[in-house]
Amino acid sequence: MKLLNPGPVTLTARVRNAMLREDACHREKDFAELTRRVIERLARVYPEAERAYTPVLLTGSGTAAVEAMIGTFVPKNGNALVVANGVYGERAAAMLDAQGKRHAIVRADWISPMDVREAARQLDSGAFTHCIAVHHETTTGRLNDIAPLGEACAKRGVPLLLDAVSSFGGEEIRFDTWNLLACAATANKCLHGVPGIAFVVGKTEALASGASGATSVYLDLARYFKEQRTGFSPFTQAVQSMFALDEALDELADEGGFRARRERYAARTKQVMEGLRALGIAPLLDDARAYSSILTSYRMPKHVSYERLHDELKRAGFVIYAGQGKFAGEIFRIAVMGDVSSDDIERLLGEIRRIVA
Ligand SMILES: *Cc1c(COP(=O)(O)O)cnc(C)c1O
Repeated sequence: MKLLNPGPVTLTARVRNAMLREDACHREKDFAELTRRVIERLARVYPEAERAYTPVLLTGSGTAAVEAMIGTFVPKNGNALVVANGVYGERAAAMLDAQGKRHAIVRADWISPMDVREAARQLDSGAFTHCIAVHHETTTGRLNDIAPLGEACAKRGVPLLLDAVSSFGGEEIRFDTWNLLACAATANKCLHGVPGIAFVVGKTEALASGASGATSVYLDLARYFKEQRTGFSPFTQAVQSMFALDEALDELADEGGFRARRERYAARTKQVMEGLRALGIAPLLDDARAYSSILTSYRMPKHVSYERLHDELKRAGFVIYAGQGKFAGEIFRIAVMGDVSSDDIERLLGEIRRIVA
């Protein structure tokens, strides 16, 4: 099966086999060493991050990492500005709601860029302690342009928290210029690991201060940070997921790092988009350059329902992804992360050609 959903990804044999290492207890020294090694290498995926940021690992999906990031870094008496143009921006606001923290949202239409001008205007009020945005808005596949937002934040001394769950390891993240306090990510998207481990790359200084706005015992990054300095974690770790992530990080390095991976994704995505255009299937976003290298979204072809497209492709060995929220039934999405070759895409396009004919 080839998974063309935005994680979990189709595994390489190398990563899948890594899970068959000998059983391990997360409270043993050897596992602590492995944890430290994974943390060190995660910090080096973006070399400029290593100096001032530290990854904190936790057992959970990407949402756990985002929730832990917002919970820990936005103090209980803080006030966050969420800049949203899709499902994941809305989810960040729902987390602040659940944590009982003050916030406001600057919304843009889901097919539009973030409204950075309005965000800057709101930040000018001086009322906000933090700004929150989504890097790759998986709802549509748009790669949000974080640089201008980061600049607006820097000018006003407001730190930025970034949901980079579907971009970490596959797109550029500028730790040096985006005024980032932290970003949240996961093992099973662009890093090509398995579900179970998510992480937050946070400013070391802020984590080390011990300050935390956490309203949850489990999702308090300050506690994980303190204990993980020795490789140990406060709660049970997803052991096999750690084995897989360890191997997946080797694989990423062997492949040439995130830039090489991004090039590979971009080539697959171009192949998908051009192949679908030739079949009369149009991308959802007017400006195709707004897409990430990782995922693209398309309007449903005439006379074909999402269910039929999905089910027939599944029988042929491909899992595509539905629209979320207001896009349910209106669009389909194709992600190219994981072990997906250009031959796989060729075969996919052949199947879609057959279905829409
Ligand atoms: C996948 C994703 C998440 C987290 O989803 P989980 O199902 O919890 O792994 C968060 N943000 C974005 C942008 C995502 O694409």
